[in-house]
Amino acid sequence: MTSAVYDRYPRYEELTEWLDEFAEQFPDLVRKTSIGQSYEGRDIWLLTVTNHQIGDPAEKPALWIDGNIHASEVTASVAIVHLVDTLTAGYGSDERITRALDTRTFYLVPRVNPDGAELSLAELPSFVRGSVHPWPYTEQQAGLVPADIDKDGRILQMRVEDPNGAWKPYAHDPRLMVARDLDEDGDGPYYRILAEGTIHDYDGVRIPTAPYRAGIDPNRQFPFQWERKVEGPWDAGEYPGSEPEVGALLKAITDRKNICTYFAYHTFSGVHIRAYSDRADEALPADDLWTFQALGDIATELTGYPAISGYHDFRYHPKSVIKGVGTDWAYDHLGVYAWTTEFWNALQAAGLDDSHPLEWYRTHPIDEELQLLAWVDDNVPGGYVDWYEYDHPQLGRVELGGWHSELVFRNPPAHLLEAEVEPHTALALRLALSSPQLRHRDTIVDRLGDDTWRIRVVVENAGWMTTSVTQRAIDAAYVRPMIGRITLPDGASLATGSPRLDLGQLAGRALKQNAVRAFGGASDGTPDRTVAEWVVRGSAGTTCSIEIVHDRAGVVRTEVELA
Ligand SMILES: [Zn+2]
Repeated sequence: MTSAVYDRYPRYEELTEWLDEFAEQFPDLVRKTSIGQSYEGRDIWLLTVTNHQIGDPAEKPALWIDGNIHASEVTASVAIVHLVDTLTAGYGSDERITRALDTRTFYLVPRVNPDGAELSLAELPSFVRGSVHPWPYTEQQAGLVPADIDKDGRILQMRVEDPNGAWKPYAHDPRLMVARDLDEDGDGPYYRILAEGTIHDYDGVRIPTAPYRAGIDPNRQFPFQWERKVEGPWDAGEYPGSEPEVGALLKAITDRKNICTYFAYHTFSGVHIRAYSDRADEALPADDLWTFQALGDIATELTGYPAISGYHDFRYHPKSVIKGVGTDWAYDHLGVYAWTTEFWNALQAAGLDDSHPLEWYRTHPIDEELQLLAWVDDNVPGGYVDWYEYDHPQLGRVELGGWHSELVFRNPPAHLLEAEVEPHTALALRLALSSPQLRHRDTIVDRLGDDTWRIRVVVENAGWMTTSVTQRAIDAAYVRPMIGRITLPDGASLATGSPRLDLGQLAGRALKQNAVRAFGGASDGTPDRTVAEWVVRGSAGTTCSIEIVHDRAGVVRTEVELA
């Protein structure tokens, strides 16, 4: 038993201890390495989880999951710990887990952004989205900077009485603030709502929102449609991968040619988002779109989260799309099925089943807010804080309170954490087993003459996905064809042809979703199967070594006797 638990969000030191325990207690299953250091010099841990006693991890089809690239999205780390915990506990007793670890590899990076997570989980938290790297300016710019000014461990809101404020207390529950009517100009009181914090370079009149000092969104740092300026207050940094955390990810991922499926774990919204974020589904090859949709159906069935397109269904603003995103890069450049899982949706938890995970925050009926508040009162202690007076050093008397957004919206409350992440472990296991898998089917040796032999090695793709994983991988020239090689001992030679054969790709079963045939002549064929064939000269009893290698689908090695 390791000391991993699901009743809290571990800080870096505790998380590292848990990962060490997995590696120490399950040395045949878990190896822990560092893929690089964060801006502040913390190691970014990678767990390679597979049966290390059977085969090279790099020669098994792999599932990659990274999490917590955004500072406060710490559910992601816990979800990955839960997966490791389940895999190690179930090996040898659970058939599916045992098969997955014998035949597949899991590459897991629980905390891409340890610096940001440390700040987010500190006793006196501060808000950062990415790492702590000051960018694009080293000095703090003028304006309101969110901070825990009363040192109570939370960054709430400040309401300041103001005759020109946009908000007023809601008559039926004065804790809630609601919009002033469009023609309303009474005695109020009306309020301005500001983030809890202090005003840098305050001129005594204006309170602009300061740009974030650490202004990089690391999930806009990937080399796909990268642009320096991205939506909202964020910036994409100096160049793609210039942040050490993203650079380390890019290197670690591209070093592992066996990755077939990519997940980036984030919070929040309760959705699985697939490529693309910046273009319509028509841009995808049809086979890839259909496979994405089939995978999405499984994801929704197992987790309850809708599987959606970033472009069509998940926009922060109707007129903008997001660029430089990890999953878009993984699909477009590597040609792997790539998903962003956004854990947790407080609105769903509160029973607001039809709410859009982004649009709701812009506008919603007050009844729905009351429903959310009632759920928060029952389930998230301190999730909504009634307003209390505070003597602000710059603004005088203000009140602190309102939504404790980190507690309510950004991650599930601790008592719901395990239930939230558990279904995603099942999904990761299923998708790991959906990858292509090269398998030896048959060896046929025919004697053509005294010392002339035809060797035919039949291999098949036993997996669900095609060996290339996607059509995109072929179009992008990222995935190589399967290669067959024969090695002959002294005294034997090839009668014709090359020892190295280009064997192309093998189909899987992903596109076989029902057996209805409207045209009688349709048949499956054998696109999942191929033959590596050599004609060899050698005396009877000679043994030849054959290796059939695919970067993604694995390796078949066999010895063939001329007999
Ligand atoms: Zn995120």
